[in-house]
Amino acid sequence: MKALVYTANEEMTYREEPAPSAADGDALISIDSVGICGSDMHAYLGHDERRVPPLILGHEAVGTVLEGAQPGQRVVLNPLITCGVCDHCHGGRQNLCAERDLIGMYRAGAFAEQIAIPERNLIPVPDGMPAEHAALTEPGATGLHAVLLAERIVSRPLSESNALVIGAGSVGLLTALLLRDKGVEQVVIADTNPLRRELVARYTDLQLLDPLETAPAEQSFDCVFDAVGGAPTRQQSIAAVRSGGVIVHIGLMDNQGSMDVRAMTLREITFVGTYTYTPVDLRATLAKLASGALGDLGWIEQRSLADGAAAFADLLAGRCPAPKIVLRTGS
Ligand SMILES: [Zn+2]
Ligand SMILES: [Zn+2]
Repeated sequence: MKALVYTANEEMTYREEPAPSAADGDALISIDSVGICGSDMHAYLGHDERRVPPLILGHEAVGTVLEGAQPGQRVVLNPLITCGVCDHCHGGRQNLCAERDLIGMYRAGAFAEQIAIPERNLIPVPDGMPAEHAALTEPGATGLHAVLLAERIVSRPLSESNALVIGAGSVGLLTALLLRDKGVEQVVIADTNPLRRELVARYTDLQLLDPLETAPAEQSFDCVFDAVGGAPTRQQSIAAVRSGGVIVHIGLMDNQGSMDVRAMTLREITFVGTYTYTPVDLRATLAKLASGALGDLGWIEQRSLADGAAAFADLLAGRCPAPKIVLRTGS
């Protein structure tokens, strides 16, 4: 089969790879579409010691069952493979399973024509739903998990709160759209890439802001979602959140700098980390996307898997306005 392989730092190679075979309990999937994630970019730059080349990256995948219990069924893959028997798994917090694995990390990912994955990781795609929309399920579920955490913490209903989202990549943008769907009227989204701001403005009615030019209003947001997760965005989050508010930290850009814990203490700010999603978050997000509740998804850019190396180079150079590039096999 053909696959897009991370072969060295800043090098992706489209080449022939051995086809996977399904072990006991696995299904064999023919991949249709797979999104490029910020974490794939992170690996491509050599910044993720867990992802060692040569490795097939990619975990935001949609395909069709070739071999398994439901042949011919279109499915979204839950890329998180968990033990299923620990307290976290039984308690519905599979994302915290100590045994968890992710496709495209220690095992082969989905930038390929085929993948083998446990049957229990398959989620059926509603009939007629475009594959590129279904490919947003994984980043969208990351956003939904973050929104649901914030909802548990804010002192008033989300619909009576306002929000700042830092970063208009797919996780940030989908977080913002899910907040709108929750009834949050004022959602401001900050991104430094002018091309991306322009594109997002064309497809959504979110308030956009260039944080390099205008700092978000100080102490004015009930919740702040940091979908970048770098030292400067953490500072921005603390400055922008209202006293008693919540900062939800999603991005994993770096682990640098310090945080003003004195200000956070005196202002009763809740800082909460959020990691991925549960299987239920994935199902709920897929249903949301299929329902059309998240608006016009025309901001997705589609390219062929064979041209995947150029997509990575364009993303790295900041030439790419789209919050999400979805790579398609066979086109
Ligand atoms: Zn992802
Ligand atoms: Zn477990």
